[in-house]
Amino acid sequence: MVAGYGVFTPLVASGQRKYHILVSRYHYFPTEAELALNGAAQMALHERAAEATREEFGKDVFVRAVVEVSNFCRENCSYCGMRRDNRALHRFRARHEQLAELLVHHRPESVTDINIQTGEDPVAVREVVLPLIETLRRETRLGISVCLGTLSPELYDALQAAGASIFIMKFEIGDAAQYQQFAAPGTLAERRRHIRLLAERGWQVSSGFIAGLPGQTPRDLLANFKVARELPLRGCSVSPFIPGGETPLATAAAAHADWTFNSVSALRLLRPDWVIPAVSAFNLAAREGYRRGLRAGANLVTMNLTPGEVRDDYVIYKRDRFIMTEERVLQAIDAEGLQPSKTGLAAFYRQRAVGATIPLTANGA
Ligand code: SF4
Repeated sequence: MVAGYGVFTPLVASGQRKYHILVSRYHYFPTEAELALNGAAQMALHERAAEATREEFGKDVFVRAVVEVSNFCRENCSYCGMRRDNRALHRFRARHEQLAELLVHHRPESVTDINIQTGEDPVAVREVVLPLIETLRRETRLGISVCLGTLSPELYDALQAAGASIFIMKFEIGDAAQYQQFAAPGTLAERRRHIRLLAERGWQVSSGFIAGLPGQTPRDLLANFKVARELPLRGCSVSPFIPGGETPLATAAAAHADWTFNSVSALRLLRPDWVIPAVSAFNLAAREGYRRGLRAGANLVTMNLTPGEVRDDYVIYKRDRFIMTEERVLQAIDAEGLQPSKTGLAAFYRQRAVGATIPLTANGA
């Protein structure tokens, strides 16, 4: 693990040449043609991205667990089975005590960080997530991420005071008109404002977008990279569009796997210092998709620890989810010749100096 990457000052001090190499790497910006590559050219793109990952992070892959706490949601995204108009969905809020017992006493040893996730449900945030974070902070040394949607500044502060340090807020769709068309939460401008607000309040923010939404062109896909590079992020994900059975997009075609994995590589080359997750939906986009994601430049895996009795109702995509267990994530890491990071994600971010974000003018394109 190379500490301090993305921080200009120490690199200047340690060698002008290295500084120039790093700056030139940040000038990368993908083209529409690159995002649609296949065959040998695609393989070369993915190898280049994998090499950039190894240079930055060595063979280490961060290992975190996710618990899905509530599937209530006040939003109505067309691409998500948990949208508020899905009246057929059985809604649940997990109990704090049950999750605390699981995470404090029965979590797999390889887990260094927990991601607590909900639909946009401020009630669950107040009644379950906040006490759970307080318990985890008191009883464990786990890094704590949250993915809870757009909330009030007061709730952001309360979550941080309780002990969470990483906020995952995906901007989902980088084109404002399509953002509205697919009824993504609020507006794109509001989402971007909240991402900046979180970063200003001291959160490490990770974001993400969906590749391959119905009607999306390579040009639309490229718009996501323009948004991503302008935001104060520490990581970004690519989620392939998977049509959910209980959504208005149920009959649409799933994302093309090439777009998905090319986008992972392009993100890696755009920002070698970012933490890029392999998402479980990669396995729905392609055979051995999870491993392909690691091969294309991802460096974070997530195992699902949501209690089995509610997990089936957390239907972001569709009911036959591909659940990543500890065994599956560790096998994927091992099969790619990589290793689980002993340093947790939150600890890694802490080790990095504040101000690691590269000035926008250095990004070119
Ligand atoms: S994507 Fe998130 S905000 Fe949108 S409906 Fe699903 S859970 Fe709610």
